[in-house]
Amino acid sequence: MRYPERLLRLIRALAGLPGIGPKSAQKLGLFLVQNPDIASDLRDSLEAAQALHPCPKCGNLAEDALCPICADPERDKTVICVVETISDLMAIERSGEYTGLYHVLGGALNPLEGIGPEQLNLERLFARLEGVNEVILATGMTVEGEATASYLAERLSQQHIRSTRLAYGLPVGGSLEYADEVTLARALENRRGYQ
Ligand SMILES: [Zn+2]
Repeated sequence: MRYPERLLRLIRALAGLPGIGPKSAQKLGLFLVQNPDIASDLRDSLEAAQALHPCPKCGNLAEDALCPICADPERDKTVICVVETISDLMAIERSGEYTGLYHVLGGALNPLEGIGPEQLNLERLFARLEGVNEVILATGMTVEGEATASYLAERLSQQHIRSTRLAYGLPVGGSLEYADEVTLARALENRRGYQ
């Protein structure tokens, strides 16, 4: 049987999403064409989400001038938690343990893939350290995450800023976003001075 071209196009677009295989894409595509209300709500939310942009301060997603965390007067402005990705930021937020600010690097140092300090959102971090007492290095427990933490700790110590690293207990070789809330909360609570 030949599928209608428009359905194929929709299925191809869905199959391009992370975690969606060909079978799921087909199932979702058929579901959406048969449920126009849900499809139209999805289309509207996608269109609205296009207006999201990186927060000029921290790199989190923002819909206003600053992201909701940077704009929140209740957050502790003396602590910055450095993470690789927005998913990692969200994981730490879910732990409910952290009240400071964030800085999203957009990845980790990886010379083999050509990712050096210039490719990351680093300079903006060093430009916002006034009044900051502590930088928590919450990059992943991977080789790249450790290398990034070590690079940052070195540069921060040159500026006499205390850096801490999340405590052990997080899965080695893993990304923060897959850690559960309790583990993350404990890792934050027991963070230790870097070296
Ligand atoms: Zn922000």
